[in-house]
Amino acid sequence: MQFNLNGFRTGDPDAHAASEQGVRRSSQVELPSQVDVLVVGCGPAGLTLAAQLAAFPEIDTCIVDANPGPLELGRADGIACRSMEMFQAFGFAEKVMRESYWVNETTFWRTQDEPGKGIVRTGRIDDVEPGLSEFPHTILNQARVHEFYLDIMRRSPNRIVPHYGRTLVDLAVDPASSHPVTARFEVVGADGSRQIEVVTARYAVGCDGARSTVRRSLGIPLEGDSANQAWGVMDILAVTDFPDIRLKSVITSADGGTIVLIPREGGYLARIYVEMDKLGKDERVTQRSIAIEDVIAAANRVFHPYVLDVKEIAWWSVYEIGQRMSPRFDDVSEGAAAAQLPHAFIAGDACHTHSPKAGQGMNVSMQDTFNLGWKLAAVLRGISPPELLRSYSDERRDLAKTLIDFDREWAALLSAASKPENAIDPAKVQAYFVEHGHYTAGTATRYKPSVLIGSAEHQHLATGYVVGKRFHSAPVIRLADARPMQLGHVVEADGRWRLFVFAPGGNQEASLAAVGQLCRFLTDTPQSPIVRFARPGADIDALIDVRCVLPFHHRGIEPGSLPDLLLPRKGRLELQDYEKAFCIDPQPDRDIYAMRGIDQERGCLIVVRPDQYVAQVLPFDGVAALTAFFDPIFTRP
Ligand code: FAD
Repeated sequence: MQFNLNGFRTGDPDAHAASEQGVRRSSQVELPSQVDVLVVGCGPAGLTLAAQLAAFPEIDTCIVDANPGPLELGRADGIACRSMEMFQAFGFAEKVMRESYWVNETTFWRTQDEPGKGIVRTGRIDDVEPGLSEFPHTILNQARVHEFYLDIMRRSPNRIVPHYGRTLVDLAVDPASSHPVTARFEVVGADGSRQIEVVTARYAVGCDGARSTVRRSLGIPLEGDSANQAWGVMDILAVTDFPDIRLKSVITSADGGTIVLIPREGGYLARIYVEMDKLGKDERVTQRSIAIEDVIAAANRVFHPYVLDVKEIAWWSVYEIGQRMSPRFDDVSEGAAAAQLPHAFIAGDACHTHSPKAGQGMNVSMQDTFNLGWKLAAVLRGISPPELLRSYSDERRDLAKTLIDFDREWAALLSAASKPENAIDPAKVQAYFVEHGHYTAGTATRYKPSVLIGSAEHQHLATGYVVGKRFHSAPVIRLADARPMQLGHVVEADGRWRLFVFAPGGNQEASLAAVGQLCRFLTDTPQSPIVRFARPGADIDALIDVRCVLPFHHRGIEPGSLPDLLLPRKGRLELQDYEKAFCIDPQPDRDIYAMRGIDQERGCLIVVRPDQYVAQVLPFDGVAALTAFFDPIFTRP
């Protein structure tokens, strides 16, 4: 991480000095009457968004929740590799790595053919395909993830703290107004009195869960089927002779349905999802009065011949979840897309719900608002046109649909496999899990070509950086200080675009000369997107952060020989930034060019979005295409 750019400061580098607004807000109890962005809901979706917006002191963000305080336990716990990559951009992946359980292997169990014998292990596999991400699939309480986000918000310049205990009553949008969204919240006082507080906002985002009031206010339906299946979930401290209690296990039993066992952080806790009763059409799980004893008994039926002796129940719940989604994720109605700009959005469970079997709920919800956050920030800061906001619904709706289809298929396969009459080969269940590992890891997301995603015409120059998919990190050595690191970790959640310049190989002198020529284009010519869109007084990397990878040994290159763009002067003191250039890691099997299929001879340019997705792969000399790509994305100052 970089700090001290604008002068030496002691103390925690993650704690920012308070802005004027931060000082004002920290003593304000009631809701502000007018804000830039109103976020409704402090779940994973709302907090990811608020933490992203917290990076921009010029944006006034307000986040509100009906609960009296932060979530303390329970709910989701699976953190996909892709979410870990996003946490890295927010700066807390290492903390999650330290505290969490790592899902390295998964086992599969099923009922033996001989009656009364109970379950037997049928397979054991890597949970995540080797090399899929530099991060493991981890398990950590959702409430803990919330705390990491709240920490970022609290220490941001605007000192963003949620307003708890306020329930959104309704929300209306008037596009003609400067602050088009009007939201009404109900507050219940200590004496039981009810009061309405009104907030107007330039944009509002409903992250208010499956029964979203924002969605209802906008008249957006949630379509799909209820699975009509009750599930019990419990976080327990137990003693058992089941041998895989510390491995993620999928158990399909002929006698009692399916269990998904997820070992939890800390070494002792385990989460067990148990398939319970089939519900009637339109029946709610609450009507069944299922007790924790029923869930434990059902679990023991599945575990037979093993026994689960529950010593303590940390949390439990019974719920039914269907795979449902909304046809649109913003307030622009179907036929009005060309004429109307969006001002209100829905994200997370508010617009799609999943079964817990595929572990998607929290992960997809966070990725929704990671997609939206930088776009809102760019529009509100006047960097990008408001049309950019249309891409949120388009991109995330397509993705939600793909994931729901996968979730439905996986849930159906597990249920079918638990019934002996279906005679489903356990190898088929295992093969499906392996084949679809990219979905569960969150790395399967691929955005379609659009203003924000270029064509795949030059994909052959970097076969491992698939246009539309996330930028897959790989090891490099930072040139100036010889630090081995992951290249992807330079993409922080700061709203900036990245241009990765992969220099051509061969003759080192010629390669550096080519890099110099490219950098001169980027700094000196009026067509360059860096020059065209530069804001007065801003650092040269404020909009597009250029990083260069050189396919040579770092000891053979003098940092001082780099062009100015790769050694830029920045900040109040015009200090030089030494962290723009990298070399290949000389250790075996760690050459980023080989790992990611970069054309060794010709090199290439890779444009990466602020949310870590590859937007374009271009030839090394593709400066005209680079200019054309950024043209509709940024506004002229
Ligand atoms: P949520 O986390 O639901 O957050 C919505 C927030 O909005 C809440 O804090 C709520 O208080 C607030 N809110 C709602 N209405 C209003 C209003 N009118 N005004 C103000 N605030 C409002 N997923 C799993 O993968 N595994 C699990 O075991 C699991 N268990 C779950 C158990 C329960 C009881 C629930 C509710 C969900 C569970 N989930 C589970 C789902 C997972 O938690 C969600 O997918 C994930 O939290 C979605 O995040 P979100 O931010 O979209 O919404």
